[in-house]
Amino acid sequence: MKRILVTGGAGFLGSHLCDRFIENGDSVICVDNLFTGTKKNIQHLMNHPQFEFIRHDITEPLYVEVDQIYNLACPASPPHYQYNPIKTAKTSVYGIMNMLGLAKRVHARILQASTSEVYGDPQVHPQLETYRGCVNPVGIRSCYDEGKRMAETLCFDYYRQHQVEIKIIRIFNTYGPRMNPEDGRVVSNFIVQALKNEPITIYGDGSQTRSFCYVDDLIEGMIRLMNSRKDFQGPVNIGNPGEFTVLQLANKIIELTGSKSEITYRPLPSDDPVQRRPVIELAKKELDWKPTIQLEEGLKKTITYLTKELSL
Ligand code: NAD
Ligand code: UDP
Repeated sequence: MKRILVTGGAGFLGSHLCDRFIENGDSVICVDNLFTGTKKNIQHLMNHPQFEFIRHDITEPLYVEVDQIYNLACPASPPHYQYNPIKTAKTSVYGIMNMLGLAKRVHARILQASTSEVYGDPQVHPQLETYRGCVNPVGIRSCYDEGKRMAETLCFDYYRQHQVEIKIIRIFNTYGPRMNPEDGRVVSNFIVQALKNEPITIYGDGSQTRSFCYVDDLIEGMIRLMNSRKDFQGPVNIGNPGEFTVLQLANKIIELTGSKSEITYRPLPSDDPVQRRPVIELAKKELDWKPTIQLEEGLKKTITYLTKELSL
């Protein structure tokens, strides 16, 4: 039995991780300030003897005894991380410093949830871990992109200076049940709009691409990375290399929901990346991981979840 800390554990991805550890017989401390997460995501775990929830903000130090730390605390959707950009930067930077300090003190292994956003608006396609990215340091996405880049830097500095065992996962757009229906990300927005027969809001002309990974595949990759060989730190891309334009995604969701929604076009937010697709050869080699759930199957599961969630 391991003692595992999950920061951001009441969020979309964090709550799925907590489920996996409890199923596995591990002991879980879930830390969250409930900014974008909700107790509803972990309600079913609250009375479990091996599950503990602590309402805490990771920009403040935390003292607990654990073997592994999964650091996921950070708003992930653009409207949420842009709501208070200074707070987002603090969560990314002070947050990982506090968690690295904890890892050092208690000799825990730590995994940092990084992101494909470290590649910015990539000039190299598809994106390999060795690509250093094209990030605007002064734009509206910078609090998140640069915050996550600094967090990666701090992980490697704690590794080199203090031999903390670090693992860095670069997550590409992930979707699935427990996405907050109102968090503004493209998959949840389009499904909610389609289910309500409201206009589907495409930002720009819809030709920008994303690669969408189903949550169960992502969680499997994340756990494999945490438990990978001691001298492997990553960063490693975890995502589904299937690449779709936003317009293709909208049409697929209209088809799967049988919606009467029409497509409407809105201005493209600044610095919105034009294209994104992971190279996953490193994950295949080091973690023996590849995604198993393709877009249509994953969307169907997400549509079922959001239909119930919205009581439609
Ligand atoms: P989410 O918003 O559902 O979860 C984030 C959680 O962190 C929430 O429960 C929120 O309340 C909590 N949180 C935010 N700031 C905090 C703070 N200062 N202290 C404590 N808790 C705090 O988002 P998610 O999709 O589950 O993302 C989880 C992690 O994965 C994030 O770090 C995100 O950057 C990363 N990520 C996600 C994706 C994706 O597509 N889902 C892609 C790339 C990276
Ligand atoms: N997007 C859109 N309509 C929406 C929400 C998002 O067209 O209602 C676009 C957004 O501009 C971006 C893509 O969908 O090009 C993915 O957006 P998301 O916020 O999910 O994540 P990102 O990958 O940009 O962080």
